[in-house]
Amino acid sequence: MTDLTPDRLRRDALLLVPDVTLTPDGPLGLHAVVVRDGVFRDVGPVERIVRTHPSLTPVRLPGQVLMPGFVDAHHHLTQSFGGALAFGEPSEIFRRVWVPLERALDEESAYVAAKLAALESLRGGFTTVAEAGTRATVDVDVVASAARDAGIRCVLGLVCNDAADGTGDDADPRPVLSAAERHLARYGADGLVHPSLAVSVPEAATAPTLAATARLAAEAGAVVQIHVNEHLVAVERSLVRHGLRPLEYLHHVGALGPQLLAAHATLLTPAEVTLLADSGAAVSYNPVASAWKGNAVAPATAFAERGIRFGLGTDGTRGDGFRLADAAEFAQRLTYGLASGDSSCGAGWTWWERATAGGADAVGLGRRTGRVVPGAAADFLLVDVTGPEMQPSWDLPWELVRRGNRDQLTAVFVAGRLRLWHGWPPDWDGPALVRRAAELGPRVVRRAGVTRAHPTSVTARQRAATPDASASPRTTPAVPPPHGSVLPAPPPAGPAAPSPALPCPGGRR
Ligand SMILES: [Zn+2]
Repeated sequence: MTDLTPDRLRRDALLLVPDVTLTPDGPLGLHAVVVRDGVFRDVGPVERIVRTHPSLTPVRLPGQVLMPGFVDAHHHLTQSFGGALAFGEPSEIFRRVWVPLERALDEESAYVAAKLAALESLRGGFTTVAEAGTRATVDVDVVASAARDAGIRCVLGLVCNDAADGTGDDADPRPVLSAAERHLARYGADGLVHPSLAVSVPEAATAPTLAATARLAAEAGAVVQIHVNEHLVAVERSLVRHGLRPLEYLHHVGALGPQLLAAHATLLTPAEVTLLADSGAAVSYNPVASAWKGNAVAPATAFAERGIRFGLGTDGTRGDGFRLADAAEFAQRLTYGLASGDSSCGAGWTWWERATAGGADAVGLGRRTGRVVPGAAADFLLVDVTGPEMQPSWDLPWELVRRGNRDQLTAVFVAGRLRLWHGWPPDWDGPALVRRAAELGPRVVRRAGVTRAHPTSVTARQRAATPDASASPRTTPAVPPPHGSVLPAPPPAGPAAPSPALPCPGGRR
């Protein structure tokens, strides 16, 4: 690999010869791929590929595995300034942290937050993210610009809530539905941005709007992203209001179908699992979110057995595809496999496939990305497997799930273009973006009025060590100062000045 440089990978047409290519048929040696105009033009045995593409100089990639990029089936790009604010919080954190945080974003900070999340995702091997709809009061095109400028593929949700308090049966659905139609038509020719609709939770939209968004998305070949059956309190509210659980309610109003991308779907009855299987709806299984703030773990091994479509999602917890796939298997093993003596839990291939092709299918891009096959978008990773963690190799998909790490990523490609080289973008200033986020993020969090129930871990430790303190009534802890030991201290709060290093989309229009 000593002679491989990013310049050799920044060509309009590439003939790549890795040690191993991970195809839908499994890992294949002595295979090569041709990338041209953003897609895989050919995939096959090296000898044939070299012979049939004589104009291309083969780029040999010793020690590298070429695999599809990971797909994050559930993300919130504009929540990136508050990642650690969620730690230790009880469920329904969106009411106390995420909604205030997103509402405090202006155009520049929304752009920077979304681009920061996109960069983190790329660094974790994701080439596609499904953005579940920002509640920032900016044009959603700000988020589209951030994703496009970072170079990641984005399924971009537009929030279509029209019943904020869950009782707005008299709300006029026309403004929301016209915006939905405009959004679905807005990105037709865009190579990286794919429109989608979103409803925060079933109770956030009226029944007619739930049905109409389902119909509009189905007609457009798009998905509707809805958080479904995630928190116990939400399930119980639905039972009290409708006599139906949230997923049953979506079925009742005509919103359950192949266009639905149900985020979480953790608290499911057997009947609801059957509803998912029968309807063709897809799920984003979010194991890290379950561990950090959830009430349950989705029965994903059973989903696979029942033929339910599903991918893996981070929910903005951390943008690392390897750790997500590992958590997906780990959570199944602890939650279901130990109790039933299932030592396989779908085996490594299940979780690797759901992190890539299964996720692409779930977010509505199954024909576009997620696989290394001719005609698919060239969204792929070069993974260095020469380290001690990966040798000798016996079962590559499972090794990638259990032992793979993002520090093995040599290169990340989206739509045939080199987007990251050893963790950083070769054609824009990634470190400058991180510095700008470290300036803007604390200001946004301070003005957001976030309410946390859990203190920082240091304070929690002090309370645990001081019985009197731990027994005393707790007030809402203030948002702590950022611990930017390696980052510059944030400047005093005030109007955000645009950074010349980071053009925001508003400045370009
Ligand atoms: Zn979410």
